[in-house]
Amino acid sequence: MLEDAGLQALREAARLSPDNLPLRRHLAEQLLAKGYLADAEAEFRAALVLAPKDPDITAGLAEAFVRQSAHGAALSVLEPFLATPGYPPRMGVLAARALLGEGDMGRAGHRYHEAVSRDPSVADPELAARLTVPPAPAYAPPAGPAAPAYATPADAPSGAEVEKAKQTFADVAGMEAVKESLRVKLLLPIQQPELFAAYGKRAGGGVLLYGPPGAGKTHLARAAAGELGAAFVNVGLADILDMYVGSSERNLRATFDLARRNRPCVLFFDEVDALAARRSDMRQAHTRQLVNQFLAELDGVDQNANEGVLVLAATNAPWYIDVAFRRPGRFDQLVFVPPPDASARAAILRILCRDKPLAEMDFDAVARVTDHYVGADLKGLVDRAVEVKLQQSISAGRPIPMTTGDLLAAAQGTRPTAVREWLATARNYVLHANESGAWDELMPWIKGKW
Ligand code: ADP
Repeated sequence: MLEDAGLQALREAARLSPDNLPLRRHLAEQLLAKGYLADAEAEFRAALVLAPKDPDITAGLAEAFVRQSAHGAALSVLEPFLATPGYPPRMGVLAARALLGEGDMGRAGHRYHEAVSRDPSVADPELAARLTVPPAPAYAPPAGPAAPAYATPADAPSGAEVEKAKQTFADVAGMEAVKESLRVKLLLPIQQPELFAAYGKRAGGGVLLYGPPGAGKTHLARAAAGELGAAFVNVGLADILDMYVGSSERNLRATFDLARRNRPCVLFFDEVDALAARRSDMRQAHTRQLVNQFLAELDGVDQNANEGVLVLAATNAPWYIDVAFRRPGRFDQLVFVPPPDASARAAILRILCRDKPLAEMDFDAVARVTDHYVGADLKGLVDRAVEVKLQQSISAGRPIPMTTGDLLAAAQGTRPTAVREWLATARNYVLHANESGAWDELMPWIKGKW
């Protein structure tokens, strides 16, 4: 995108008078309007330093985040405002977009309708359409042509697919404690059933992985399947959620049945908070139906229904999950997937680079300059360095090995996504709500420095 002269002049003016708040604010808004999202974010941040708590600047920053899909970051800047009655309606709409981005349809709808009822001019028809679930009684017959009537639930196709996972725990760097607890919970009962039987313990029950986005929850679940030699079914929201009454429940049942037909199987639900949110938070009766269906599937119709099916789920927002999901036999274990420390980052980089032509590498040096990067950020960094190397190799007509310098250069052009914001949000939710000890693993992180 070519930058116009007006914008250049504005940038120059802001550079010359960095403390001129109206100027910086105007520049930030122009950058946002023209789609220079990262630059707009930086300008709004700078303006917030000059005018902390300014609602318009905060809303601008939140919009820059939302448009970069940094939904957690958007919510954490908006949350202090949303807690006060009468907050600016524009913020409610932004929060709705961020919540939808996080898969929290219930809260997104609530925020959106509240905002628009106070100020109809903030309405966003496109967003509203994505939030609309046709109101209907819980037991209404399936409506419309997109909800075919299946003779039996097993006939209903599941959107999810069965994979044969190639990765094992050897492909997951760091996370030793997490891998160990998964081994005990998932793998040992299957590998050594006699031992478990001797103690009268049955295999079963699911594990809820939680942590910042990109920290490796999906990667870990897939590797658990590979480690077990089990099939892997990766279920996204789009495989389940359907706007027609009754269809989401049917999709869920079909997905469990798919896993049961492919046992041993790891059935993995990503963004599970959208399917398992607290029923008290849900306005629509049929959304509650989905939660009830999910609980019923986890429990199984009989004791052996889920034998050989290991249910894993991941969420960035564990505090939204209905406590009923945490009962024995359901997601009875909460496992925190932490952001990687320096040695884990070096190990992740080593794994990400292992099949590339490499010179002598100092991964520790790269780990040192990538504080707060999660696995997904490091993958982005390596992809970026590889792209540059590929172009150089094409020009040179031969493969040029990647160096530590290439990774360091790539690190300069990237920045960590959402760990700090995620930890700030987590702190808000759990700091004073750990009576049951459910968040013990997370506590040192939210109390520590980051
Ligand atoms: P999440 O599910 O927590 O959002 P992902 O599992 O999708 O995160 O992680 C994104 C990518 O980051 C993975 O595909 C993988 O390449 C990389 N990654 C994350 N954590 C690790 C790890 N511990 N070891 C190796 N690669 C990792």
